[in-house]
Amino acid sequence: MSENTCNTIVVGGGIAGLTSAVYLSRAGQKVMLIEKNKECGGLVNTFIRDGFHFDAGVRALEDAGIIFPMLKDLGIELEVVKSKVSLGIENDIIHIEDLNSLTNYRDLLKKTFPESEVEIDEVIKIIRTVMKHMDVLYGIENPVFKDLRHDREFIFKKLLPWLPRFIFTVGKINRMNIPVEEYLTTVVKNTSLRDIISQHFFKNTPTFFALSYFSLYLDYFYPKGGVGKLPEALKNKISEWGGEIKSETKIIEVMADKCLLRDQNNITYKYDNLIWAADLKTLYKITGTEGLLPKIKTVFDESKNRMLKKRGGDSVFSLFLEVDEPLESFRKIANGHFFYTPSKIGLGETHRDDLSQLLNNFYKIEKKQILSWLDKFTLFNTYEISIPGLKDPELAPPGKTGLIISFLAEYELFNKIQNAGWLNEFIPELENRVLRVISDSVYPMLKDKIITHFSFTPLSIESRIGSSEGAITGWSFQKNMPVINKIQNSDRSVLTPLPSIYQAGQWAYSPAGVPMSILTGKLAADRVLKQMKKFRKT
Ligand SMILES: Cc1cc2nc3c(=O)[nH]c(=O)nc-3n(C[C@H](O)[C@H](O)[C@H](O)COP(=O)(O)OP(=O)(O)OC[C@H]3O[C@@H](n4cnc5c(N)ncnc54)[C@H](O)[C@@H]3O)c2cc1C
Repeated sequence: MSENTCNTIVVGGGIAGLTSAVYLSRAGQKVMLIEKNKECGGLVNTFIRDGFHFDAGVRALEDAGIIFPMLKDLGIELEVVKSKVSLGIENDIIHIEDLNSLTNYRDLLKKTFPESEVEIDEVIKIIRTVMKHMDVLYGIENPVFKDLRHDREFIFKKLLPWLPRFIFTVGKINRMNIPVEEYLTTVVKNTSLRDIISQHFFKNTPTFFALSYFSLYLDYFYPKGGVGKLPEALKNKISEWGGEIKSETKIIEVMADKCLLRDQNNITYKYDNLIWAADLKTLYKITGTEGLLPKIKTVFDESKNRMLKKRGGDSVFSLFLEVDEPLESFRKIANGHFFYTPSKIGLGETHRDDLSQLLNNFYKIEKKQILSWLDKFTLFNTYEISIPGLKDPELAPPGKTGLIISFLAEYELFNKIQNAGWLNEFIPELENRVLRVISDSVYPMLKDKIITHFSFTPLSIESRIGSSEGAITGWSFQKNMPVINKIQNSDRSVLTPLPSIYQAGQWAYSPAGVPMSILTGKLAADRVLKQMKKFRKT
């Protein structure tokens, strides 16, 4: 058994772990980033197949007052373009250009649901209010990425005037923490309308988070070369500043009392501080606390009980298409980031009660019942369609187009079908239905121009990223979150009950996504640096 020693070890080379590692290496720490896959990035990743570039995880990035300030702070220049969003229902499509596009969205909804004009006006009013809150929330560069000891101009001209508005807004936001489905029932009686507004959000998404999406549509940007350029840039900086990246290394044991990690090859790693930036249930499952103080063990066991009972949030099914049709044909229809609902009927209970029934009675029902549920599910769903080549033409071979069509998908359904032994039969059934729905509606040219296609399921995400239940944004939005979920407390989100172990990433704070994963990565690095400073003084 060989042993490596480091000031700080970061486990998980997703965007959170990379952020922690880059800040620690910049501060001159001896830092090692351990990643189980060959490449870093986790759910922020771009891969190339047959000359087509595809984004495997997130399709575009939101600044949220976090990403650009971080890049500036680190001296990283990333060439980016706006990732323009289109929204479509049946035959009508609008393109989101600026704040005025909210009026176009209102008109689109009114055209689709003329019987619900008053309700639509009310929803738009609420979205407008949420957008104002978002302007405050993301209105300045996040102070966590500023040098507050030296940048007096930022403190006096921006931060101090902003703070009272922030505190006021946080109060408002916290009052909108109830699930969006529940909230919308108080405003919208028309169930189809309610579905069309909210069905592409995760189950029980907090209202504020869901209704803030219109602001986020305007915030989306895309790095030239694909979203994977962001983790690549961070990785290069880590190496430049002397940090070590150990890929294809999976941590399978944490010995918290000895400050030791063990990987799949039985190699051990000694740390002064550990930042765990991967799946949190895994940390709790593989951590031994034998030699620790009884008080710490008790708190750890309580936390572990809470964590292991909770589940990850919704996962996603992604269908990747290589198409023998030029980008221009697609550009005429919609932007490269497109939320499309082929039917105004809405999913209704298809993705809730009907699905629960199906899962609860899974072993009693026949395959054909599941497939007929699938007919409805694919017909009434909302799809996120991304065309990397429309954001950066270099990302597709000349005259051809790559598409990613995705939607939220229930991990348990795929898991049960796999256990029942017919996943390989189910996947083409699902792919063919999605292709039929999309080519019968918005992209008829897909009918005979697809060169090849392949897909990733929630199970692929679980096995590749190690994310519990294939979750793509951390914890499911249930009551009694096992982690911090109030923005004003985000500073504490990186603490664990274990000495010298911090947590970061999408499991450390909820609701999460790329910006919050980056923020927690930085907060964890700051905690470690503070700890080291204190240690050096004593
Ligand atoms: C299709 C899709 C769309 C999305 N859309 C958005 C969006 O619009 N906006 C948004 O903000 N977010 C979006 N997200 C979510 C966002 O991508 C993630 O929340 C974020 O990237 C999580 O980053 P992370 O570093 O916390 O975790 P991850 O990316 O999961 O990284 C964890 C890393 O740890 C590694 N690892 C796991 N276990 C071990 C181990 N035992 N040892 C070593 N390494 C290990 C994994 O391989 C992985 O690289 C989307 C995600 C997907 C998949």
